[in-house]
Amino acid sequence: MLRAAVDDLANTAAFLRSESESVTRWRYGHAMTSDTHERTTLTTLSPSRASDFKQCPQMYKFKSIDRIPTEPTIHQARGTAAHLALERLFEQPRAQRTPEALYRLFRDAWAELKKTEYPDLFDSVEDERAWGIESLGLLAGYFSIEDPTSFEPEALEMDLTVAIDDMTIRGILDRMERITTTAPDGTESELLVITDYKTGKAPPERYASQAFFALKIYALLIRTTQGITPDRVRLLYLNGPTEYTLDITDSQLDAMHQQLTALWQAINKAIRTDTWPTSQSVLCDWCDFKDTVCPAFNTAAEIAVNRAAIDAAAAAKIARPTSDSVSGT
Ligand code: SF4
Repeated sequence: MLRAAVDDLANTAAFLRSESESVTRWRYGHAMTSDTHERTTLTTLSPSRASDFKQCPQMYKFKSIDRIPTEPTIHQARGTAAHLALERLFEQPRAQRTPEALYRLFRDAWAELKKTEYPDLFDSVEDERAWGIESLGLLAGYFSIEDPTSFEPEALEMDLTVAIDDMTIRGILDRMERITTTAPDGTESELLVITDYKTGKAPPERYASQAFFALKIYALLIRTTQGITPDRVRLLYLNGPTEYTLDITDSQLDAMHQQLTALWQAINKAIRTDTWPTSQSVLCDWCDFKDTVCPAFNTAAEIAVNRAAIDAAAAAKIARPTSDSVSGT
């Protein structure tokens, strides 16, 4: 059945290739964040941008203040399409939440996203097909970590914008559900669980606790808005597949509240003083700015040349005619 799904994806890819030649569109700042800033103060903070600042203030500035556009990657495209497909899988009646349905939903999601978000991602139909085959393989792995027919989500892609003290925290929670567990003595209890999907590789177990940063923020937002402390958070890495879980306590969420407050104040101070130190680590190898505009790895002259090239490429993509502009709509 996976083979048939792959063949269907290849047909979809070929179709989309011919269509994309007449419908090309690029949104400047593809990687722009949902965080909004005035020049002197922070107005909204998302878990991913809070994580950026924690990792490296300079990287945060590149993404959230300067909003330097970055090229979309095949990994981002896979993550976006897989999230959309999994969301739609849970909108189906339980009996229809099958692997074949998920493959079809992924193909449909990709067809939509390609037109609007990733029109130029692949150089050839063959590259796109190889990416699709790998993506469907990851989705096949999903069914070995959970049975989607065994529960009904309470929330899907839940948009949370929450005021906490003088902060506004915004994020989109993948999924929340109630599950029933049975203790060794036979006692049943219901747990409120927040689940996050990942299409990248799982970190080694010794680093897994750091991966829960965003999920603890979501748990805090749920506690703040609903007055209930979630019992557990889960990370489902489809690539593996691997599942990490963490039981949540109020003291953990109190600590996250304090950490967010400290980050909020630190970002505001950085904005006020325009001070953005670099923080080098092994994670620099995955940073979009390492080889172009990061002052820790490039001279001022190199940065000026690279920044001009980035701006020129982005401007060229904006200026490219689209079928919409041609038709005057
Ligand atoms: S390459 Fe490293 S030091 Fe430079 S901006 Fe990125 S994370 Fe920061």
